[in-house]
Amino acid sequence: VCGTEIKETEEVLDAIYHRNKTLVIDNTNYQDLIISKLVKETSDTVSVYFEPTNKDFYNFEAAQYVNIRVKLNGKICDRTFSLSSSPLDQFLRITVKLNGDVSHYFYNQAKVGDTIQSLLPVGDYVLKPSNNYLFVAGGSGITPIYSMIRTLLLSNTKSKITLFYSNKTTESTIFLQELDDLEKQFSNPLTIKHFVNGNRFNSSDFAEYAKVNTNFESYICGPLSLKVASKKYLEELNTDQSVAHTEDFVDGFVPMFGIRI
Ligand SMILES: Cc1cc2nc3c(=O)[nH]c(=O)nc-3n(C[C@H](O)[C@H](O)[C@H](O)COP(=O)(O)OP(=O)(O)OC[C@H]3O[C@@H](n4cnc5c(N)ncnc54)[C@H](O)[C@@H]3O)c2cc1C
Repeated sequence: VCGTEIKETEEVLDAIYHRNKTLVIDNTNYQDLIISKLVKETSDTVSVYFEPTNKDFYNFEAAQYVNIRVKLNGKICDRTFSLSSSPLDQFLRITVKLNGDVSHYFYNQAKVGDTIQSLLPVGDYVLKPSNNYLFVAGGSGITPIYSMIRTLLLSNTKSKITLFYSNKTTESTIFLQELDDLEKQFSNPLTIKHFVNGNRFNSSDFAEYAKVNTNFESYICGPLSLKVASKKYLEELNTDQSVAHTEDFVDGFVPMFGIRI
């Protein structure tokens, strides 16, 4: 499963083992989330808004994820979903692409008022301070990136933000209208380049970007092939960039036992 989260969990457990004063909140108790709104974003994607019974759910960093638990036909199903809302929003939201059991439940069966369960938000795919961000998203990989971009913009960032967003078609582009609105409202910091209908980004798009942008942090989320290609293009730039940050949407769920405070 996802390397970064396992590393994080190991570090926390190591800290507890060596008693080096790391304070950890127990995050093993599933708590109720009530579905407050369902919005079909595209023909195969739905956003699910939650009302948590515990307000601690709002204490998260942009792009962290929730480990949710739903009971389907008597079977417990655990899955991981990035939060697509920003900590600065007044709501908690995940955005789910139709795939197997749990996404089918959210897309086709869930109703406002249904209660599911979740652990508190966790994850180390979070924003590092920078004056310049390059985000690379493919399909549903936009969810954590949308959370980060909204958070930067809502906090009146002075940083420059560029998004390369790849999708099969314009119709299947999640948050297309919302991103368009953000780009109009925040045209100074935000630039979006859409890649659709097989027009994929390539090394020259990254080279062009790097001609005018230096010292940027890059965040990638999307299919494995998009991630591999983006990392290669970034490496080819031969700049002193830090390692690209990536999030992996592996099937199933990513265990996390504690939250450092
Ligand atoms: C950190 C993280 C963040 C994530 N964020 C998001 C997000 O924001 N949005 C999002 O949509 N997803 C996200 N995911 C993925 C999500 O956790 C689920 O894996 C995804 O929604 C599929 O779950 P499901 O229950 O719908 O499908 P599953 O039932 O788990 O099935 C997954 C696939 O396996 C196939 N399959 C299942 N059982 C079998 C079988 N017995 N034999 C053969 N094939 C089988 C299914 O057909 C399907 O294609 C994230 C994952 C991680 C780790």
